[in-house]
Amino acid sequence: MPKTAIVTGASGGIGREIAVKLGCEGYSVAVLYGKSEDKAQKTVELLEKSGAKARAYACDVRKSEQVKNTVAAVIADFGTPYLLVNNAGISEQKLFTDITDEDWNNMLAVHLSGAFYMTRAVLPWMLHEKNGRIINIASMWGETGGSCEVHYSAAKAGLIGMTRALAKELAPSGITVNAVSPGAIATDMMRALGEETCRLVEEEIPVGRLGTPADVANAVAFLAKDESAYITGQVLSVNGGMVI
Ligand code: NAP
Repeated sequence: MPKTAIVTGASGGIGREIAVKLGCEGYSVAVLYGKSEDKAQKTVELLEKSGAKARAYACDVRKSEQVKNTVAAVIADFGTPYLLVNNAGISEQKLFTDITDEDWNNMLAVHLSGAFYMTRAVLPWMLHEKNGRIINIASMWGETGGSCEVHYSAAKAGLIGMTRALAKELAPSGITVNAVSPGAIATDMMRALGEETCRLVEEEIPVGRLGTPADVANAVAFLAKDESAYITGQVLSVNGGMVI
């Protein structure tokens, strides 16, 4: 029986690559998306092509009730999830003084409340199995702080705090909780900054290139392995040496 993975934000760059990688590793994958149904279906197609079972579910992670219902639907379709990847995210560049209440609340809702709602919905099932993996996609800005991205940095730092605290709480129950913290990864989110900014960022990366979604997906797959059972509460940075 294949293990079940739930990946949020799996219609997008990093989330899609994580989903596809997990499919190749033998998982059945619940492909969660916010608005982009077509892109989520494309992820499902890629998974099915590789022989994995997959299905797309619309789920705005900011909505507690929607999250609860989606997780119930996934469990009805695929059984108890072994792996949850909290990947859904948004970015926004603004001066701190320009951040509105709405910007602030939305940023925290997607990254922090989203991971909280998803994890809370999945956890009773993992606890019942006394087995499971939770992997949160953080960011180097959550580790170091990014200028003009204070709300994003705060949300990702919060996610790292949640990862560490929950890891301690769940370790006795056989569930690991880790974060993967990407640097600058070539996705729509990064490209939205413009070609010139991407080039300048690239120049600052010791490895000499932007990261790829596959670089992040490989780290997720590593933490999901049985052999990684002794790794918990950690932040695995995937940033080409940009932050050491
Ligand atoms: P992306 O291509 O913009 O994809 C973002 C994904 O999140 C999409 O699938 C989107 O789904 C989903 N999403 C956004 N709001 C949502 C909501 N309210 N409910 C459910 N899903 C929602 O971004 P990416 O670069 O792949 O980023 C993925 C993760 O990596 C994010 O958490 C991001 O913060 C983190 N990260 C990225 C970078 C980078 O350089 N790219 C660096 C560090 C960390 P829909 O389109 O279907 O709405």
